[in-house]
Amino acid sequence: MQYRKDKYGRPLSVLGYGCMRFTRKGGGIDIDKAEKELMAAYRSGVNYYDTAYLYPGSEAALGEILERNGIRDKVCIATKLPQYLVQRTAAFDRFFDEECRRLRTGYIDYYLMHQFTDFTQWEKLKALGILEWIAAKKQSGAIRNIGFSYHGNTGPFLKILEDYDWDFCQIQYNYLDETTQAGVEGLRAAAAKGIPVVIMEPLRGGKLVNLLPTGAKKAIASHPRGWTAAQWGLRWLYNQPEVTVVLSGMNSLEMVEENVKTAAEAGVGDFTESDFTLIDRIRQEIRKTEKVGCTGCRYCMPCPQGVDIPGAFRCYNAMYAESKSAGRFQYAQTVGMTREPAFATQCIECGKCEKHCPQGIPIREKLKEADRALRPLPYRIGIAVVRKYMFRKRQPKEKLS
Ligand code: SF4
Ligand code: SF4
Repeated sequence: MQYRKDKYGRPLSVLGYGCMRFTRKGGGIDIDKAEKELMAAYRSGVNYYDTAYLYPGSEAALGEILERNGIRDKVCIATKLPQYLVQRTAAFDRFFDEECRRLRTGYIDYYLMHQFTDFTQWEKLKALGILEWIAAKKQSGAIRNIGFSYHGNTGPFLKILEDYDWDFCQIQYNYLDETTQAGVEGLRAAAAKGIPVVIMEPLRGGKLVNLLPTGAKKAIASHPRGWTAAQWGLRWLYNQPEVTVVLSGMNSLEMVEENVKTAAEAGVGDFTESDFTLIDRIRQEIRKTEKVGCTGCRYCMPCPQGVDIPGAFRCYNAMYAESKSAGRFQYAQTVGMTREPAFATQCIECGKCEKHCPQGIPIREKLKEADRALRPLPYRIGIAVVRKYMFRKRQPKEKLS
């Protein structure tokens, strides 16, 4: 494992563990599987573990795994204040204390204001006394480093960056987002101020691996480097000295192994002209096909009407990245064949989801477009027939016999 330094010189593994994507089982997290994967990463030198109040069950699972294995003081925990839920000063302590309870710890190594998209959110927190609260928490040692995660545009990012003496920040950044969100401009501005940058969505929620269009896959396969799609995404990041930690939501041992290997090998300045040309080619191929820029982060969920928003967009994009029938089949299977269907047409246009989407997707409009494409009439009829059969009311046994 390679390490880059935080603001105070502490070595952080260049690969961070994104605990948002622990495998789910039934209504919760598959803790035993998560433990195996997380401990494999730990044994390979990963020392940065990222979670959030908002990720269902994630803080509690991480706390349990670290305690079970007696490694809390050997790793760094990063978690986040759900600033969008804060309306009063007392909420700072209420959320922080609850997070510490869930994580079974008395201190947080890296604490972030979660999901800023605009300067006004930081202003709201300041009006509620966040500066005094942070100072007290740092003084007591309950918070070691203070930062923010960001999903808006470059302008407000730079303003937030300038407004406070942050210890670190976290941005969505990958080769598709080089000039969107905080972008390379934001990354370099942070680095110029000596602020370490943690990268989230390095593979756009897996899209830069699983949903690459055929043209991009072919370009990768024929390149002499022989790297996988995930390696191209991660190596493009590690090539940049301004990047400190790259988070990856690892939920298989193979994924841990592959990412650890990349993190051990990849270095700053490794990329050649030919490598950059390949990245350009992949970008062009993706942009030719992508219909909705959804990363699958699920911040928009749950929808009160039960719509599977990221599911609909994933299938819609799959229609163009893979094939029409592949996307439609996935939609019928994952959205249509559950007891409570989750079709886009269930949307009543309340707009709640759009307020939470860090990508600024006009969800209501795109859902209509997606459902029209994913469920033409023959599919509607077919799905209705199958649903009728699958979910018909069972008669009591005595009436059947
Ligand atoms: S706008 Fe539609 S999809 Fe979004 S939360 Fe409301 S009902 Fe759900
Ligand atoms: S629609 Fe937006 S908030 Fe919802 S999963 Fe996609 S990117 Fe995330």
